[in-house]
Amino acid sequence: MGRIVGIDLGTTNSVIGVLEAGRPQVIANAEGSRTTPSVVGYTKDSELLVGQLARRQLVLSPRNTFSNLKRFVGRVWDELEENSLSVPYTVRANTQGNVRVTCPVTEREYAPEELVSCIIRKLVDDAETYLGEKVDGAIITVPAYFNDSQRQSTRDAARLAGINVERILNEPTAAALAYGFDRSSTRRVLVFDLGGGTFDVSLMRISNGVFDVKATSGDTQLGGNDFDQRIVDWLAEQFKKEHGLDLRRDRQALQRMNEAAEKAKQELSGVATTPISLPFIATGNDGPLHIETTLERSIFENLCPDLLDRLLVPVKSALRDSGWQPDQIDDVVLVGGGTRMPMVKQLVRTLVPNPPCQSVNPDEVVAIGAAVQAGILSGELRDLLLNDVTPLSLGLETVGGLMKVLIPRNTPIPVRQSDVFSTSEANQASVEINVWQGERQLAQDNKSLGKFRLSGIPPAPRGIPQVQVAFDIDANGLLEVSATDRTTGRKQSVNIKGGSNLNEDEIQKLLNEAKLKAEEDRRKRVSIDKRNNALTLVAQAERRLRDAALELGPYGAERQQRAVEVSIRDVQDLLAENDLHELELSVASLQEALFGLNRRLSSERKIDSNPLQGIKNTFGSIKDELFSDDYWDDDPWDDPNRPNMDRRNMGRRDLDPWNDDFYR
Ligand code: AMP
Repeated sequence: MGRIVGIDLGTTNSVIGVLEAGRPQVIANAEGSRTTPSVVGYTKDSELLVGQLARRQLVLSPRNTFSNLKRFVGRVWDELEENSLSVPYTVRANTQGNVRVTCPVTEREYAPEELVSCIIRKLVDDAETYLGEKVDGAIITVPAYFNDSQRQSTRDAARLAGINVERILNEPTAAALAYGFDRSSTRRVLVFDLGGGTFDVSLMRISNGVFDVKATSGDTQLGGNDFDQRIVDWLAEQFKKEHGLDLRRDRQALQRMNEAAEKAKQELSGVATTPISLPFIATGNDGPLHIETTLERSIFENLCPDLLDRLLVPVKSALRDSGWQPDQIDDVVLVGGGTRMPMVKQLVRTLVPNPPCQSVNPDEVVAIGAAVQAGILSGELRDLLLNDVTPLSLGLETVGGLMKVLIPRNTPIPVRQSDVFSTSEANQASVEINVWQGERQLAQDNKSLGKFRLSGIPPAPRGIPQVQVAFDIDANGLLEVSATDRTTGRKQSVNIKGGSNLNEDEIQKLLNEAKLKAEEDRRKRVSIDKRNNALTLVAQAERRLRDAALELGPYGAERQQRAVEVSIRDVQDLLAENDLHELELSVASLQEALFGLNRRLSSERKIDSNPLQGIKNTFGSIKDELFSDDYWDDDPWDDPNRPNMDRRNMGRRDLDPWNDDFYR
């Protein structure tokens, strides 16, 4: 069986972790970074870029580069807030009211889950390379306050990436696992998690490896991005006042302002004032226009008082639900880059008297916790038990549009809860089960998770039939609803998929497409690699030829030089013809020829630098020299282009460069 990894799928950055020898650790990506930007883009040749490479083209190709996708996952168009739509790429609603992202270069529309699946795939690919083995499954973290649709959609994204989701884990719970997995004392912990696009608060009790979540709350539309947005608006308004132009209407300018705002915000966590410079941001009647300004921390803080107020609401709600007083909290764990802002830290200090714990890295703690959970599920970590809760109340719509709650928020999961309902009219043959999630009294003010109909109810006066409705929430926080007519025993049950952006058919279609494309992509990559290798080798061979001509003259090693020249021409011809099969053979010949030339050059240098050596050689005692470690100036074994020979199995005679047959 392959490995199970832990993935923190962040709005801004994502991190992957794994349990190695009983300790959780973060895996660096192919670029060497421990965090991967959650950005997906397509180049002008429709090549897919993920992570840092995609992030780099954010400004140059804002319409084909997609960031902050997590804000769209599992959301239908009508639920989106105005500020979520302020992205430089095009987002629109399809005919079913689902969110679609438009990509001009590929001339396609994508569901946000489809693009997010590319991020998951990249993280897993990099992890497989690092681990040297296949990754079969993943623990994926989501904001605790994600509703059922957002959780379902996250799972869909992983499925599209070909990854089995072993568990959907709440981010603050993951952070607490990372914080408390090797602490034995009993602590009451508040996890305050301000990421790029979401905010979560959880209160939990950790005691001897048992993690009991007491209450959780949050805001899935509030995060570090909103603070950036305040700086963007401040810059744009100033510019508008001065030049009469709204830069937010220009996608490229907007993207540049987004980047500058995020940078300024981060810098203001360390210094009191920061410069913002955006040259050539627009063109006015008199030529190019620039932004050159400075932002002071106090001004920035004055731009955000309402955002700070919004942070207070979930904290108070979670404290109220837990029944704990702030001074009963032993530790505060700060998670997410947003908690580095001094104003946020101060806010936390005004809420809980104990200073925040400094021992965890806010960027990595969630992935570390997910890796711990992977260890619990695989049986590697024993004596740890996690009792999570459901973040939002779940219920049914009853007469008059009221919400009847079956499972109140902060109920420990997994849980099953049922109740009996009846008909509201005489001879009613069917009932509609309309499932909602949220805290409002009127069902329509909450989030609809979907509906289904139980039919075949025998005719009876109103209030007589008995329909038992049961809600099941599994350990992932995912819901299944069933309804049974107690008279006939007829039962109907559904996995709720209300707000997911993709239906099952679309998922299957994308999975089949991905299978077909995977083979095509692999072939494309192999051919690109072959061509690149050939080009690198040709450049290297040409350099070697120049060295040889300089050191030995044009005819100094004529046979070896000619062999290299002929092979270079062959490789170049085949590159032009794009004949990859023959190219492979001619690359091997060029490597062989180059190897010969390299040896010839090395031996000539050796002879030149030691005149006695030549005499020694003529007496045939070269063998001893050949195998002394410092014989080769350029160790041919370190040459990536040397012919494919196995050093261990090679007889010494095979290496004799003085044997002319060797080079043929
Ligand atoms: P996360 O989703 O945990 O990766 O958090 C990313 C958010 O944290 C982004 O909005 C970042 O701009 C923000 N962030 C990262 N570092 C800092 C910092 N030093 N000061 C303020 N915000 C930061």
